[in-house]
Amino acid sequence: MLRELFGGLALYFMFRDQVLKTIKRSTVYRSLTSSTKTQINKTMSRIELGHTADYHVHLRQGEMMEVVTPAVREGGISIAYIMPNLTPPLTDIERVAQYKKDLQKLAPKTTFLMTFYLSNLLTPEIVARAADEGVIRGIKCYPAGVTTNSQAGVDPNDFSAFYPIFKTMEEKNLVLNLHGEKPSVHDGGEDIHVLNAEAKFIPALFKLHADFPNLKIVLEHCTTKAAVDAIYEINKDLKEGEEPKVVASLTAHHLFLTIDDWAGNPINFCKPVAKLPEDRRALLSAAVSGKPFFFFGSDSAPHDLSKKATHVGVCAGVYTQQFAIAYVAEIFDKVGKLDMLKDFVSTFGNNFYGMDESKLVCKDRCVLVKKDIEIPDIITFDHKTLKLAPFKPVEKLSWTTEWI
Ligand SMILES: [Zn+2]
Repeated sequence: MLRELFGGLALYFMFRDQVLKTIKRSTVYRSLTSSTKTQINKTMSRIELGHTADYHVHLRQGEMMEVVTPAVREGGISIAYIMPNLTPPLTDIERVAQYKKDLQKLAPKTTFLMTFYLSNLLTPEIVARAADEGVIRGIKCYPAGVTTNSQAGVDPNDFSAFYPIFKTMEEKNLVLNLHGEKPSVHDGGEDIHVLNAEAKFIPALFKLHADFPNLKIVLEHCTTKAAVDAIYEINKDLKEGEEPKVVASLTAHHLFLTIDDWAGNPINFCKPVAKLPEDRRALLSAAVSGKPFFFFGSDSAPHDLSKKATHVGVCAGVYTQQFAIAYVAEIFDKVGKLDMLKDFVSTFGNNFYGMDESKLVCKDRCVLVKKDIEIPDIITFDHKTLKLAPFKPVEKLSWTTEWI
């Protein structure tokens, strides 16, 4: 009886020792892995991004302008390149200068670069004067009717009426920003629609570059593999250190979205619309490629919630401004390319636009910080009726930004 008891106790202690050893080993293993992980996180928990720039920003007018303009800095952006599709569009020097003053008042630490809206109200003389006085850095070209406030745009099937302006722009080193889509045609022999509108525009880009080889051109908010391939093709002979003339801007949301994400979801509906999975893969691979002809332009396009949450006439535009850098960091991190982020959101765009620290109203640098944030469902503002629906509502992001 006693022998059995002692035998049982011995077995118990042996078993217990074994269990304890196993627990100890796993504790040691866990603590080793977690400390290694902490070390990796520690080294990666702050990444200096320099003078971050968003080279495609919509800040609107009135109440919307008041709430969205401060969000540029909140989203981790130092330099904002401002789109001119106001009502009426920005086509004269005085209004652009006034608009810049208004924005600067709302966000004293943000550097604003301004643009004209390409229309037949512009002349080579106005453009030359605006360039000489440093009022504008570029001119935005909207094909008529393709997106918000583009009714006054141009016919992308024939740019020849604007060639005298392009010549002046080339001489004055101004940038031509192209919304690269053809307007829809359903009964004209050649079907054009939201899915092929960008690809159909690409021959016009090649022609413009051939006719004005020294004109700086940005194909804005690319959404297709065809556009990415076109930019690679144009830059195929670019030597190391040589500056590209034709580049593409890429948004944050197009690095995440495909057609399935906006069909039935007005928050993700924007122009140009997000395309197919292979297009998204091409955009992401261009963004992390380290090629100087791909850089960030958010095309953050705020609309009041009432214009997004409606059953008829949903406005095109995704609002990303308030978390701009955090969104891009999230996707770069996901594909293990955070080391390419600074080039994409600072270096390449600033080089193309000739920006350096001496031209900034505030020399603060942006730092990416490892910290979970949750995107709100809806953004509201004190004493304002406006509501904004941000991209990725109620989702968590792993990075935020600070200024040093
Ligand atoms: Zn835009």
